[in-house]
Amino acid sequence: MPAEYRFTDEVNKSFDRAAKYVDADPTLLAQVRGNNSLYHFTFPLRRDDGSIEVINAWRAQHSHHRMPTKGGFRYSPAVNADEVMALAALMTYKCAVVNVPYGGAKGGVRIDVRQYSVGELERITRRFTFELWRKNFIGPAIDVPAPDMGTGPREMAWMADTYAALSGSELNASACVTGKPVSQGGVAGRNEATGRGVVFGLREACSIPEDMKRAGLTVGLDGKRFAVQGLGNVGYHAAKFLIEAGAVLVGVSEIKAGIANPKGIDLEALMAHRREAGTVAGFPGAGTLPTSLAALEVDCDILVPAALENQITRANAPRIKAKVIGEGANGPTTDDADQFLRERGVIVVPDVYLNAGGVTVSYFEWLKNLQHVAFGRLEKRFDQGAYRRLLNAIEGATTKTFSVAESNLLARGADELDIVNSGLEETMAFAYRQIREVCAEHGDTVDLRTGAMIRAIRKVVVAYQELGIFP
Ligand code: NAD
Repeated sequence: MPAEYRFTDEVNKSFDRAAKYVDADPTLLAQVRGNNSLYHFTFPLRRDDGSIEVINAWRAQHSHHRMPTKGGFRYSPAVNADEVMALAALMTYKCAVVNVPYGGAKGGVRIDVRQYSVGELERITRRFTFELWRKNFIGPAIDVPAPDMGTGPREMAWMADTYAALSGSELNASACVTGKPVSQGGVAGRNEATGRGVVFGLREACSIPEDMKRAGLTVGLDGKRFAVQGLGNVGYHAAKFLIEAGAVLVGVSEIKAGIANPKGIDLEALMAHRREAGTVAGFPGAGTLPTSLAALEVDCDILVPAALENQITRANAPRIKAKVIGEGANGPTTDDADQFLRERGVIVVPDVYLNAGGVTVSYFEWLKNLQHVAFGRLEKRFDQGAYRRLLNAIEGATTKTFSVAESNLLARGADELDIVNSGLEETMAFAYRQIREVCAEHGDTVDLRTGAMIRAIRKVVVAYQELGIFP
């Protein structure tokens, strides 16, 4: 991160801009803005070569206005207290924006995953889960981690298994963490949920004719040229679903290099090349750029930063050509760059809304774990029977005869993935409408980030007011 930017300051600047529009007592606003709990802990790791290393880890719980708290755990060499507190605050606002009933949290372990064996990563994960449990910082009703940078279903499975072993006969133990593999109590669709949500959100943003006209773009995702930073969980899935929606990938920024091809990049061929070469550089289907960051500046309609915070700064913002920025990552745009882009008419679809697909589907996973039954299991057959009876009635009352393929399609009962994806789509579409309503309330003088933040702050304010603590 550029040294002049402190992540919590960046988040608080957008809070302060939005808070001016919220009618609430200043002490209550200070309560909403501040971080409620921060736990920094260290523990020893025995490396495979027998040496001992001290590992640093943090968990921030930004807001206890709703319990449990919720947010990812990242493994990155840059993790520090400031970073997890900023990310935890974003989680509070994000959950409020998409109507998910949690307070925000975030955690991190300061390691570079590429320097550790799988066995070492497992020891680290199980040990910090133990440390969280020891301090009452994890549990289905307390604090529920999820994947983030450098972590995924494997780490979540280790966490759930460790928690289950420690919590004895706790019936809801598997709800202590989300993003688990489906075989370990996960929910279908969680792994790709954040990227899918990014595309649902961008689809909403690109569907409003007056916004698109102002940005000099046509309505819809079809044919839009886009660049992505980070081909990890969020970036890869966002790119995949954007391509499925008809958009064309023209630039990629990865950790060591950037590539571009105005005619389009074959995503799956690029992933195969990266697996083999360890880098996107040298991919035969695109030219390699002088720097990784140069890929953010390629000629395109949509830019999706999906790697890490503070990537679009006042320094590179003037060179960015995209008309829409879809924040897949948390905090990718600094406050000064955000203001600069806004003045230039660029539509920034903010992280507090756009990457909320992950926590939305995590919420569905948590509900599944608490109800101990997969979505769709109880009603699928019944619905199928009802649809078939309806089709038979239509055939009886008309001259229409459905083919086997037609009738199988029309009479299909929803399975877990259908239900999860439909819940995600509805959540993203509804939240976008609500954010736009807030912007419209202010005569469209506030941008989407401020609109989303106003909405989030109002919701947290009401939760505190209804507790009767604040005026
Ligand atoms: P990930 O570890 O799966 O992927 C990150 C990718 O970014 C990797 O491919 C990595 O090589 C690349 N990268 C790292 N540093 C880079 C750099 N300097 N330049 C270009 N590329 C770089 O992580 P993820 O889960 O996809 O998370 C990415 C971002 O999305 C983070 O900001 C995270 O907080 C946010 N996010 C993730 C989720 C989720 O469900 N995983 C949910 C919401 C938000």
